[in-house]
Amino acid sequence: MSAKSRDELKADLQRRRRVILETSRRADAEIEALRSAERDPEFEEGAQSEHEQFTLSRLSETQRREILQIDAAMARIDAGEYGICRDCSADIDPRRLQALPYALLCTDCATQRERAPGEFVSEPPTL
Ligand SMILES: [Zn+2]
Repeated sequence: MSAKSRDELKADLQRRRRVILETSRRADAEIEALRSAERDPEFEEGAQSEHEQFTLSRLSETQRREILQIDAAMARIDAGEYGICRDCSADIDPRRLQALPYALLCTDCATQRERAPGEFVSEPPTL
């Protein structure tokens, strides 16, 4: 465990979680606003609002994933496994944890995941 205590880490993660939920609630409100704007006959330019809704729905997809990662990180704090890579069991670089407190993977494993995007699966990739 790094310099930060468990409680500090959890408070940090919970704060991030709240911020994401706040942002996503605001996005929901924007979608609502777009929907009611569409009922306005002067706002019949369907294409643009469809694009905006697409952007918003992608945003909340990212946010959902982030919340899942935060929850997983909090569970790992409780289990005493926080800061240990979920894939290779190496210690995650403290600088990485500082930038990304809910990181579940070390830099190497995360880079590999980025090259082969997919869900968080525990099975090794089949080649
Ligand atoms: Zn790793």
